[in-house]
Amino acid sequence: MDRQQEFVLRTIEERDVRFVRLWFTDVVGSLKSVALAPAEVEGAFEEGLGFDGSAIEGLARVFESDMLAQPDPSTFQILPWRGETEQTSRMFCDILTPDGEPSAADPRNVLKRTLAKAADMGFTCYTHPEIEFYLLKSQEPGPDGAPVPVDEGGYFDHVPGGVAQDFRRTAVTMLESVGISVEFSHHEAGPGQNEIDLRYADALQTADNIMTFRTVIKEVALQQGTYATFMPKPFTAHPGSGMHTHFSLFEGDTNAFYEAGAEFQLSKTARQFIAGILKHAPEFTAVTNQFVNSYKRLWGGGEAPSYLSWGHNNRSALVRVPLYKPGKGQSARIEYRGIDSAANPYLAYAVLLGAGLKGIEEGYDLPAAAEDDVWSLSSAERRAMGHDPLPASLHDAIRTMEDSELMPQILGEQVFEHFLRNKRAEWQDYRLQVTPYELQRNLGIL
Ligand code: GLU
Ligand code: MG
Ligand code: MG
Repeated sequence: MDRQQEFVLRTIEERDVRFVRLWFTDVVGSLKSVALAPAEVEGAFEEGLGFDGSAIEGLARVFESDMLAQPDPSTFQILPWRGETEQTSRMFCDILTPDGEPSAADPRNVLKRTLAKAADMGFTCYTHPEIEFYLLKSQEPGPDGAPVPVDEGGYFDHVPGGVAQDFRRTAVTMLESVGISVEFSHHEAGPGQNEIDLRYADALQTADNIMTFRTVIKEVALQQGTYATFMPKPFTAHPGSGMHTHFSLFEGDTNAFYEAGAEFQLSKTARQFIAGILKHAPEFTAVTNQFVNSYKRLWGGGEAPSYLSWGHNNRSALVRVPLYKPGKGQSARIEYRGIDSAANPYLAYAVLLGAGLKGIEEGYDLPAAAEDDVWSLSSAERRAMGHDPLPASLHDAIRTMEDSELMPQILGEQVFEHFLRNKRAEWQDYRLQVTPYELQRNLGIL
């Protein structure tokens, strides 16, 4: 028993914790939870808790279904929304095979492997996500079939008497109480759309934080009689919900992305990292944008990126280099704007980081920055400048990922195969649907 584990056991006793939830995620990033009695926690630390992995999407094949969930004591938190008495807590778990080896199919382990690779190259990876989501009156659509937002506010609006302010205040307090620091929160461009930006943390902690964030946001919304959704594009007419993520690599205490006097103060490492992301983005878009609906956001305007490009403070770019104040080289970072709020954060950060590291390893050259608004160029101009499109649909993204050499290396063969199988099934199902759009367009005239 190590000191962190002892600390958890002591806290459970002192705070009179009744339930300890063990959390992990499946291949698409759905949160899975099993509640343990406090007396069972010690055994779970030592041996892991046995469960049937074949019942969890992407975790195991039927013939090797026994898996173990081993709680990570550094992630122990009391869950405040369960009230003061009968306290409930949670820990994230690592998934192990019956012989106690880390499971190749555990998304958290996929990210850990990629971070270990970064560490071998001398880097620590920090991330900071800007998470957008919609607050709706309920899960039920309105009479016109569209969801009903809680307000009609827009970007940075202070909506007098609006529910969104109260919501954000309660949510931010709740997030802070589970150890998630919030940097920024505001109303986003769509009606009922909000954004909350988390303070930077190492990439594994950020991915854990995103899983907790989604749960907290949904809980607070329900408590307030509203409904929160991270669906990438719930409205045809309004912007989608992105999860722009800022990345930086540190070598010891030094920001490896910073070089005083270089173009945009970007070091060679940063340029190669961006080049890696741009080169491999079409191959990993099925992961960062994993649903049929994700492509409605990418191609639906509303400031979502659609083409491979990078730029300094250019909002049409897929990778943006944000401005920072002179003398603030330690905050040098790049922002990936493609990823949406419904991605599995473990797998998405693994492929983004893995692609960037590949750029550094192979010394990729970075094409010129896009100074124009990439959306307003003609297709011929875009082609001439090398701004190829992102995949147009989930189908397109699956096809591109299937041909990738890098993705199975980053994800491992098992996750790569499971993930693609899951996504092919989603596409098959979708393409059978006759949609209201088709009926409206065609029924009356054909
Ligand atoms: N909602 C936009 C998106 O889908 C982003 C808006 C912004 O720049 O924050 O990516
Ligand atoms: Mg935003
Ligand atoms: Mg942003």
